[in-house]
Amino acid sequence: MNAVSPASAAFPGLVDSHCHLDFPDFEGKMAEIREEMRANGVTHALCISVNFAGFPKVLALAEAYDNFFASVGVHPDHEDRTEVDPARLVELARHPRIVAIGETGLDYYRVSGDLVWQRERFRAHIRAARECRKPLVIHTRQAAEDTLTIMREERAAEVGGVMHCFTESRAMAEVAIALGFHISFSGIVTFKNAGALKDVARWVPLERLLVETDSPYLAPVPHRGKTNRPALVRHVAEEVARLRGISLEDLATASTRNFFRLFKAAK
Ligand SMILES: [Zn+2]
Ligand SMILES: [Zn+2]
Repeated sequence: MNAVSPASAAFPGLVDSHCHLDFPDFEGKMAEIREEMRANGVTHALCISVNFAGFPKVLALAEAYDNFFASVGVHPDHEDRTEVDPARLVELARHPRIVAIGETGLDYYRVSGDLVWQRERFRAHIRAARECRKPLVIHTRQAAEDTLTIMREERAAEVGGVMHCFTESRAMAEVAIALGFHISFSGIVTFKNAGALKDVARWVPLERLLVETDSPYLAPVPHRGKTNRPALVRHVAEEVARLRGISLEDLATASTRNFFRLFKAAK
């Protein structure tokens, strides 16, 4: 295989479809982060909102840099159980740099007890996404059935979106794909013990596949345990390409095309 170096101009470019660059881990490090992206052929990143308090900082990143985009949403693990008003999400999503609603979803692994509030919050996000016609960034962990039920009940298929940092079964991936959603792989797919997930990565239709880092979490092999950052999405992409028996360039071309088609983001 005649591989094109990710640093060269001929490389199609990768997008980190999910990162948290507003987190304290990256304070004062943006020049370094962006230089490392450039050196690894990572051309764009989507900065994901996890609560209203942090949202201005997420938006500021997308306003400051034309290759960063942003989302608006309240993470399912966010402790403050105050109801999320869909109208507030819709209002904030009006901004042209906001390309998605989320991250939202269900997490029965990190949070337990009576989770009515979490399900209501998820419904509010889907309603907002349909109202403003922007795709959803969905986080789901050990809550496959309820996640899919709510997606169906609230007609999430009208806007589509992405099942981010996917770690669930192929059966769940199949239903999400049938609902018009994309599947995004993170550094977890590079882990040795992720056999079932590697099978999902082999199977997902290429036109529905995205890659991400979820920085600062989940650094891929060979950086496992370190602070993750967008440049390392290259290792995720390399592993997914290897699993599918295609070149890194082909994987980059497809996943980047998928990203811009889904989020209608201006390059
Ligand atoms: Zn998440
Ligand atoms: Zn996240």
